Amino acid sequence: MHRPFVAVLSSGSCGNSILFRSNETSVLIDAGISCKEMERRLSAFGTEGQDIDAVLLTHEHTDHNRGAKRFCSVHDIPVFGTEGTLALTPLEGTDAKAIERHGTFAVGDLSIRAFPVMHLAAEPVGYSISLNGRRASIASDLGSLTEEVLKGMSDSDLVMIEANYDEAMLMNGSYPNFLKRTIAGDHGHLSNEDAGRLCSEVASERIRQIVLLHLSKENNTMDLAREAVEKCVMDDDGTRPSIAPTEHGCQNGPFAL
Ligand SMILES: [Zn+2]
Ligand SMILES: [Zn+2]
Repeated sequence: MHRPFVAVLSSGSCGNSILFRSNETSVLIDAGISCKEMERRLSAFGTEGQDIDAVLLTHEHTDHNRGAKRFCSVHDIPVFGTEGTLALTPLEGTDAKAIERHGTFAVGDLSIRAFPVMHLAAEPVGYSISLNGRRASIASDLGSLTEEVLKGMSDSDLVMIEANYDEAMLMNGSYPNFLKRTIAGDHGHLSNEDAGRLCSEVASERIRQIVLLHLSKENNTMDLAREAVEKCVMDDDGTRPSIAPTEHGCQNGPFAL
């Protein structure tokens, strides 16, 4: 027996994958690192490839689905995603299961709800996973905060959210202007300030842990991301959820649910 936990296997433009594990069920949200690397990093959390019951894809960008086909076919694991995501992900030989953008489905003892996010992809979603009255919500790669995202992530005990860039670092950095505009646009990525705003909107008495994802290597630092979000979630009496930025390409956690 172990307490349910969530752990980041990798986060950022080099590859994204998150493990959610209960006593009975283990799922990966995204599989954006190689099969071999996924297995190596899973073992750091006492988990093997064959323990995984499902892979849930958020969208079709290669930093989120690179390892899905091999990992899911080697271990005979079903892969869930919206039709738009599945159509653009190489998944030959796997058991691909289409979900609705507002769909709720079960994997083992987990109840999983998808919610739409805005991002430059076909049909991207975030996921909210519930178990025994506790809830973890995960959204990375979202260009703007919408009502659907806020609703999708509300009432969570644990929130994993993208904090991609510091506005000043992005604007003063070396990226070409068109790329700066795409990243900062409505379908690009969330800034640290946006992440802070989202956390303050979805923060309730329940929220205990915030994990920051997809930090840009070029346009952000762990300290800037943490500070921006911390400011937004500090309670009147000084209590606040703990905030854990994830270093680009690194593991983070485990975080008990
Ligand atoms: Zn990404
Ligand atoms: Zn993306």
